[in-house]
Amino acid sequence: MAKLLTSLLFIAVLIQNAHASEKAFAVLLSYGFKADDLVTIVDKFPELKDLDVASESQQSAGEEFTQHLNLKLYSENSNDAYLISKSDSVINVDKINVDLEREVKSIEGDIRNTLFETVLKETDSQKLATIMSEAFKEDFSTTKGIKVTTLYNFQVEEFFDNGRFVKYGNIVSASLIIGRAITKKILQMNPQSFLWELMPENFDSNDKPFYAPVKSSRVSSLFQLNRRHPITRRHQPHNGVDFVAHSGSPVYPALAGEVTAISRARAKGKFITIHHDNGLITTYDHLKKFQKGLKVGMRVGLDDQIGEVGRTGFSTGAHLHFGVMKDGFYVNPLYLLKSYCFSDKDQYEGLDEAEE
Ligand SMILES: [Zn+2]
Repeated sequence: MAKLLTSLLFIAVLIQNAHASEKAFAVLLSYGFKADDLVTIVDKFPELKDLDVASESQQSAGEEFTQHLNLKLYSENSNDAYLISKSDSVINVDKINVDLEREVKSIEGDIRNTLFETVLKETDSQKLATIMSEAFKEDFSTTKGIKVTTLYNFQVEEFFDNGRFVKYGNIVSASLIIGRAITKKILQMNPQSFLWELMPENFDSNDKPFYAPVKSSRVSSLFQLNRRHPITRRHQPHNGVDFVAHSGSPVYPALAGEVTAISRARAKGKFITIHHDNGLITTYDHLKKFQKGLKVGMRVGLDDQIGEVGRTGFSTGAHLHFGVMKDGFYVNPLYLLKSYCFSDKDQYEGLDEAEE
């Protein structure tokens, strides 16, 4: 008994700080149930000792402020609910299965400080804040030092019991937008852990339209929302991927399309943009020179060299910065790039066909 009382004291302290999901005991204590009541309750449903309660409702049947208490506790992790009533120190406990209504709600806003703090403030849910900050921890941690707009949005399941909000379910998709770079994740089963997680939008190989635009031994910098620029030292997203290649190496379109810009800018140096038939736009930055005769409005194919790798603009060495824009935002090119060079395509594409 002493042991139970000690743990009850501990739970009583927890009540002060707990958000959303609470242990059943903590909820019951907050409604005035006594230690003896809890013993009776656990006697009937032992799982209540450790049950995470998503929320509770007090069923008022006209009997306000009496000894009579009707409580409905919704389980966080299942569709079970427990009806617990107390009347003149007689305790009744029942377990039911509730048919919750499901809706998907979109939540969005700008990020202040960390993603965790922002989502917690918006939803009052530790669970959602944790899911979001875990899902994007590699991409983004804090707005500290970032000089561009930082936005998030996610679509989350909400469950209701007769119109009354009970709990959040899964986040089905989520995006971060930092400056003009966007990264989107959707709920998928992780093939390694077999757990459902928010993972980068999966494109199967047929949906990867682009060939690497240059023959390169390695990628030196990935698409990254949270990067300190090596030259300007400012926090700003890296809007594309950098392919390391010798100065003067030929650059090809990642896919056939129409040249929409041949220009020069302070940061990008000499750059080209190409608009493709699938609606995506690709950019090729830091070029040494443009291909002779290349004109805006010209249609280029995979075989048509468009320029040479260089280090014009803000660049620490010769490389090709390759970016992909979708619906006005830069997306991660790695999810859209075939895993082999254009020059190696015959070898790989032959294999693909053989497999089918
Ligand atoms: Zn770059």
